[in-house]
Amino acid sequence: MERERTLLLRDAEVVVTMDEERREIANGSVLVAGNRIVAAGPAAALPRVADEVIDLSGHVLIPGLVNTHHHMYQTLTRVVPAAQDAELFGWLRSLYPIWARLTPEMVAVSTQTAMAELLLSGCTTSSDHLYIYPNGCRLDDSIAAAREIGMRFHAARGSMSVGESKGGLPPDACVEEEAAILRDSERLIDAYHDPARFSMLRVVLAPCSPFSVSTDLMRESAALARDRGVSLHTHLAENDNDIAYSREVFGRTPAEYAEDLGWLGPDVWHAHCVKLDAPGIAAFARTGTGVAHCPCSNMRLASGIAPVRRMLDAGVPVGLGVDGSASNDGSHMLGEVRQALLAQRVRSGPAALGAREALALATRGGARVLNRDDIGAIGPGMAADLAAFDLRGIAYAGAGHDPVAALVFCHGPGAAFTVVNGRVVVREGRLATLDLRHLVARHNALARDLVAG
Ligand SMILES: [Zn+2]
Repeated sequence: MERERTLLLRDAEVVVTMDEERREIANGSVLVAGNRIVAAGPAAALPRVADEVIDLSGHVLIPGLVNTHHHMYQTLTRVVPAAQDAELFGWLRSLYPIWARLTPEMVAVSTQTAMAELLLSGCTTSSDHLYIYPNGCRLDDSIAAAREIGMRFHAARGSMSVGESKGGLPPDACVEEEAAILRDSERLIDAYHDPARFSMLRVVLAPCSPFSVSTDLMRESAALARDRGVSLHTHLAENDNDIAYSREVFGRTPAEYAEDLGWLGPDVWHAHCVKLDAPGIAAFARTGTGVAHCPCSNMRLASGIAPVRRMLDAGVPVGLGVDGSASNDGSHMLGEVRQALLAQRVRSGPAALGAREALALATRGGARVLNRDDIGAIGPGMAADLAAFDLRGIAYAGAGHDPVAALVFCHGPGAAFTVVNGRVVVREGRLATLDLRHLVARHNALARDLVAG
């Protein structure tokens, strides 16, 4: 057997392992062979040479960040004027007609744009929830884009089936037939889903929300997901109007509705849950159901601040998500960690969320939500997904008293190095797998076409 290529990340000021003991190793190194970590410890205890060596003097090294909720195509519709100052339902109504013009090329380019921004912010694994498929768009377009840029990907096959004429929120032109949705879901699982450790691609079934699909599709998606061993994802309890819709149409809270439909369990995670009530939190904790907390989006749309402290105290698995770029409007994963910390303090006081706990949400928390035991921490046998931040720049000046907390409290520029599955994808702050200038130029031209119509 051919010897695997080795990569040594050496002499980091601190290696934040996020392992069971939450070890932080001063002057630490990490040795990678192929796509796995083989050793992590004090630099003096590790080899000094490898096929490639990256000197991390002055850097903090953390597990690659995990983004649990996104709609990457929305990168094309950042700050659309008509949707700048609206709450969720009004925001959606003004954007649906624009999104109805999406093309396969737009899906591919926007996916890479969102992923580039995530990778540059230290994120190595992302989910993407694509739920609108006009003009021949397919989830395959996102999947091919992710492969090229080199991001670990949980591709969620979203769907909408209840249009305006049937009492749903989206225009009829944006919805699909339910039988076609289920057929395409099966096709995607067959073609792409890899359940193995170190998998670079998993398929997720993800009807968009209770207000855009039928009860039948929710149930059938859950049955199909369990038959095939894939995860389930949707939006839940996002704001007061969402709760009012659930009570009016289903006669139940969103958590009750989810439970009745088989949408609670360790293989399910729900985005937002801003308005999850006490019985809902208890049900999530009892069943191991995950939450994708998206603080920027929740503030942008004035949805509120999710009760994350209460969720964590109850034992609910919580990860972080940047959410779609029409409601954030960025994909800066480390920035999202900072917002999670700040927002939770506004809701529940200054001790509501500490820097290390916030960072844990974005690493081991996200890994648990996505049902993975191979990412979210640094240690032998874990995937080689790593992010290093250079603390010698202006953003961290004077913050050397606690370099780990500095990553969260300070407003840094992004990752110096991002490694995904053993491959250096960001090197010295620059994307190494694609020409970023060309990508952004293409993206801007497509965004203009899309919004102009
Ligand atoms: Zn969302």
